[in-house]
This record gives sequence, structure tokens and C-alpha cells, in this order.
Amino acid sequence: MNVSDSEMIKEILIENNDEVTENIDEADVLLFNTCSVRQHAEDRVLGRISNEASRKSKKRNLKIGVIGCMAQRLGDDLHKINKNIDFVIGVDQYKNLPKIIHKKRVKDFTETTVNNSEVYENIYPIHSGKFNAFVTIMRGCDNFCTYCIVPYTRGRERSRNSEEIIKEVELAASKGFKDVTLLGQNVNSYKYEDVDFAELLKQVNEIDSIKRLRFVTSHPKDLSDSVIKVMGESEKICEHLHLPMQSGNTDILKRMNRGYSYEHYRGIITKLRNKMPDIAITTDIIVGFPGETEEQFNDTYNAMKEIEFDYAFTFKYSPREGTIAAKYTDQIPEEIRLERLQKLIKLQEEITLKKYRSKIGTIQELYVEKVSKKSDKELAGRTRDFKITVFEGSQNLIGKFVKVKIVDAVGWTLKGKLIE
Ligand code: SF4
Repeated sequence: MNVSDSEMIKEILIENNDEVTENIDEADVLLFNTCSVRQHAEDRVLGRISNEASRKSKKRNLKIGVIGCMAQRLGDDLHKINKNIDFVIGVDQYKNLPKIIHKKRVKDFTETTVNNSEVYENIYPIHSGKFNAFVTIMRGCDNFCTYCIVPYTRGRERSRNSEEIIKEVELAASKGFKDVTLLGQNVNSYKYEDVDFAELLKQVNEIDSIKRLRFVTSHPKDLSDSVIKVMGESEKICEHLHLPMQSGNTDILKRMNRGYSYEHYRGIITKLRNKMPDIAITTDIIVGFPGETEEQFNDTYNAMKEIEFDYAFTFKYSPREGTIAAKYTDQIPEEIRLERLQKLIKLQEEITLKKYRSKIGTIQELYVEKVSKKSDKELAGRTRDFKITVFEGSQNLIGKFVKVKIVDAVGWTLKGKLIE
């Protein structure tokens, strides 16, 4: 979402005749687009701001601005945390950025007014990724999972006009993008007038010259049968779904306010695999949520064994000030959270390797994105089910679709042999 917002912000500034530079030494303004989802993300950006602030001694007019969720969450306090920050702009106020950065003096300026109807209509971001265009379809979230800061920073859920979304995808397609990802905190609850998410997927699937369609993030309580049906029937929708499970224990899911049981989650996986037998499923898991007993943790462990995700993003619970779970009194000690996390990582590594090895001998379509990091004789691309695959080939294949036969699996990378 932040990548997408950064692209939109660039567009807002360019429309105002400002210029984006890749060379930090040239910049008159530094904007830090921040994430609050975990404490670690906030600590890192504060470190980065401190490092870059020394530039002010060489360039007196350099302005430093903080935008994004951390700006929304901390507002004025950011000026106290780091005196070098000139302005703090919340997530609904990006249209004011040109005005703010051109003020002669912006010292200690903060604008974080919430606007729960802002969807940044009529702004068509520059999709700076070479091959994949991220298109935001909705903003905010109404779910209030008890561990999550997002509803407090990004505000209430609102969907963009579907015609605007289609226009943006068509624009991206006309610029040569073949792979589109629809974005939102909870895409399954997209609704604009009579267009729901299933209908929106159908409409995007109709757009010529788009070859691959993906979407994140899905919520298990809102992933409807009609969306699963459209996924199975639409040739452009890729065989990959990221579906956060968070826990394999229903009582913990209840305390997280997730709105589904483990059995419900398991049922969705069965439906998805019935409709799309080759679908890759990835997930997010939080371990050490307040009150999680050893038994409840084992339920998550066993759920991961049962479902066999292709990949899992596993996290230790990180208390976020202002959320309900941060006030729970039965917080789990750090060493137990770490121990549980390591167990899950180890298990998932084995499952991922097994999943990747099962692809050996299959023919896969790749969208070739770049030269491989390890060897300039090799190229890297993604399969439809989102697996990075490297193969030997000439660089003029970058940006093209090729067929490869999978010959090996090393860690989280497949190795292929070009056949077409
Ligand atoms: S669905 Fe839950 S975890 Fe996801 S953004 Fe909304 S509140 Fe956060």
C-alpha cells in the first residue's frame, strides 16, 4: 500500500511541476513514507531520518517531511522525537503536499486531519515498477482486529469508483503493464454502488493486454463463494492467493477479533483448492499473541502442517499502542514469542521446500523481470503462482513471457530450463 501511495504522491508532485530525483544529494525535500504496523518498522524509519538529517548542515534549505501511517499516528509528537523533521502529513492530506513543501518556512508543521471519504480520485499514479502495476481499489479498514493499528491510522473503509479503477488499469495497460495487482486492506469487501469485488474482478479480467491479475489483501471472513468462482473462471487471475490466517486456534482468533474460526478458514482453503487445484496459498501468522497457551500455539503449528502453505510470513506479536490487544494483561514474554516463532519458521522452511520441489518436472509460464542477482547469465521471473524462478537466457527476454521446465528447487527459488 505504501509503494502505491508513494507512486500517487509522486504524481501529485509532478502535476505541480516538482521533480522526483533518484539522487538524494540533489533533493530539496526528503519525504519519508512510513509504516506503523510493527514497532520495528517505526524504529527503522526513525533511524533513517536521523542518518539523513545530517544533510541539513550542508544544505540549509533542505526540508524533511514524514508522511504515512506513522505521521498519522504520532502527529506533532514526531517533532519532539526528531527536531530535524519539518513537517508531518497524514494519510488523507497528500493533496496538500505541493502547497506545504513550497512554503518558505514549514518548521514544526503538522496536518493529520482525517478525511474518511478521501480516495484520491482522478489521480493516476505513475507505476514505477517496470512490470507490475499496483492499483489501489479501496482505502482504510473497518475490521479493528485487536492487534492492528491500521483502522486508527488509515481510517474507515471506503471503495473507489469502479470506473476510475478500470480507467487506471487501462492506462497502465496502455503503458505496457501486463501484470496488475489490485490493492486494499480488505479487497473482498470492495463495494461501489452495485459493483462488488467479484464483479470488479470480472471487469478487470476483460481488459485486453493485461495478462496477469492479482489482488491483496483478502480477509477470510469476507472471501465469498462468488469471488472463488470468478477466480476459477477468469484466465488472467493468477493461481496464487495471500490469505492471512493469523492463528490456527479459534479462541485466539476470537480474541484477535478476526471474525472467523479455524474451521471456516480450513473450509475456504478446500474450496479454493477444489476450484483451482494448482493454487499457491501464502499467509501471515502472528505467534505469541497475548494469552496464547502452548496448546493454542500447537494448534497453529498443526494448522500449518495440515494446510501446507507455499509460504508464510511469520511474526512475533508486536504490541501497538492504542490497540485493544496492547492493553491485554496476559502478554507473552519475549523469549517464548521468539521460541515459538523459530519453531514455525523451521516448519515452514520444510513445507516451502517440499512445495517448491513438487514443481520439478512441470512446465511453467514466467514473466521475465530482471537479470538474476547471482549470475548475469541467468534471468529471473515469476510463475503465475508467484514463485521466483531463474533460468539461463539472453537479456532481450526481459519483459517477455516464456515457458520453462522446472529442473530444481533451491530454498525459495525455482530453477528452470527455457523451452519456449
Ligand atoms: S483486516 Fe484487521 S489486520 Fe487487516 S488492516 Fe484491517 S484491522 Fe488490520
